[in-house]
Amino acid sequence: MASEYPKWLRVDPDDFDLSKLDPRDRRGPDGEKIEREVAEAKHLENLEELKHLQYLLYAESKRSVLVVLQATDTGGKDGAIRKTFGALNPAGVTVHPFGKPSEEELAHDYLWRIHHHTPQDGHITIFNRSHYEDVLVVRVHDLVPKGVWSKRYKHIRNFEEMLYDEGTTVIKFFLNISKDEQKERLQARLDDPERHWKFNVGDLAERELWDDYREAFEVAMKETSTDCAPWYAIPADRKWFRNYAISTIVLEHLRSLDMKYPEPEEGLDDIVIE
Ligand code: ADP
Repeated sequence: MASEYPKWLRVDPDDFDLSKLDPRDRRGPDGEKIEREVAEAKHLENLEELKHLQYLLYAESKRSVLVVLQATDTGGKDGAIRKTFGALNPAGVTVHPFGKPSEEELAHDYLWRIHHHTPQDGHITIFNRSHYEDVLVVRVHDLVPKGVWSKRYKHIRNFEEMLYDEGTTVIKFFLNISKDEQKERLQARLDDPERHWKFNVGDLAERELWDDYREAFEVAMKETSTDCAPWYAIPADRKWFRNYAISTIVLEHLRSLDMKYPEPEEGLDDIVIE
């Protein structure tokens, strides 16, 4: 059941202060500091078990998994997707990025474009950005009036509860990098010609709004970290720790589904193939 979901790194809505979290924290689920080699080995083990559970999810085809990834710019969403979900069978995994809404999307309610992409039974979908942009960038830049975005936390809670009730496991990750780490990552993009394409001058303007984004993230996570759809704040300055934490948490969620192969058709044992 949802209440048994992993507590490690989970956002407790009654006790959450983003400024107190260390993006370089490397304590594992037992509270002990974990070494890089150990975390990397565990991550690989996790991926093996995840592959098996994905197979079972697909075979059972009764439930689905939605992973929401949010971060400040350069937070490592693409790397996290590659390093964890890249190991799975692509037939059952979809990654959906959400960029600036189109005119058609803006002419609808903000969940219209989202709902269409939630996973079908047996599948895993990863949202690279999501409906949370509608309480993050939209809030920070006043893209709609406060009276409009402030009601969205409630809509989102209800939407995600509905998904949960209908058989979708919703797992939400905030990749928490420090401002210094962002500076290094932006600089690395400037220094390496092969990464110039990733450099977006607009990211510098967003960096100026760092504190506003932190506040928007904190409120969003507090308002919407529920038993049906918990948030996990992942220390993400170290990529190896980020990968290990994500694979561990996704694995625990999949384990808790207690999936079973469907009952075979009767009489299979008697079949002789000529
Ligand atoms: P990413 O940074 O995730 O790799 P992009 O460079 O394409 O991808 O950036 C996507 C942009 O779309 C971001 O600036 C993000 O703030 C913006 N965006 C996403 N959803 C919304 C939304 N609902 N309203 C306004 N802007 C949005």
